[in-house]
Amino acid sequence: MPNSQAQLVEKLIQKHVIRTQKVIRTLTNIDRAFFVHNPKAYEDKPRQIGFNATISAPHMHGYALEWLKDHLIPGSRVLDVGSGSGYLTLCMAEMMNYSGVVIGLEHIKELANSSINSINQCKPQALRDNIIQIIEADGRIGYSNCAPYKVIHVGAASEEIPEALIQQLDIGGRMVIPVGRNNEKQYIMLVDKDTSGNIIMKKELAVYYISLCDKSYQV
Ligand code: SAH
Repeated sequence: MPNSQAQLVEKLIQKHVIRTQKVIRTLTNIDRAFFVHNPKAYEDKPRQIGFNATISAPHMHGYALEWLKDHLIPGSRVLDVGSGSGYLTLCMAEMMNYSGVVIGLEHIKELANSSINSINQCKPQALRDNIIQIIEADGRIGYSNCAPYKVIHVGAASEEIPEALIQQLDIGGRMVIPVGRNNEKQYIMLVDKDTSGNIIMKKELAVYYISLCDKSYQV
């Protein structure tokens, strides 16, 4: 069992989950132990963070960063829907060299607060300089105040891609979203908006995510 962030990253490289230097550097720099208060923080497994939510498994964070690496450049505007632990939210800001804006939307107040604490302990400059903003809100309607976004990552599955999120995706932008019903087959979809505003979808991995839901289902 890996017992450091460096060993966890090494495992993800061996499994061919991550291969790009920029992704490897990012995951090495953001220590999962700040976000998972559990002695097995470095195992490649999802972990409970309360309120029926989990921090995703490290390989899912790795894949997401590989899919989004060309869009996560300094100055980008990014939306992380269902930001949960805040781990990926911070990884995206790290990959952008803390230049730009990353909005995390999380509908459970306690999870939003705890993600703020974890981010503050790991990389205090991200919140201090307003690069990351964690907002307690329903992610299904996105966050129009800072739209359009070059990157939208969605950390919970829905049967259909919410229309508001497609609208808030920038020209040339990419969304990563798990699509499918609760307890049924779900797939990560890559949704690209080309320079003419056309939507191009590509099916990636089969996954199992919690649902993008009303918060009454979680509390
Ligand atoms: N990428 C996150 C995933 C957390 S699990 C991580 O690795 O930590 C998915 C998160 O989506 C949960 O925290 C859950 O509370 C949140 N969520 C579910 N439905 C939501 C909604 N409608 N609006 C905002 N957040 C939602």
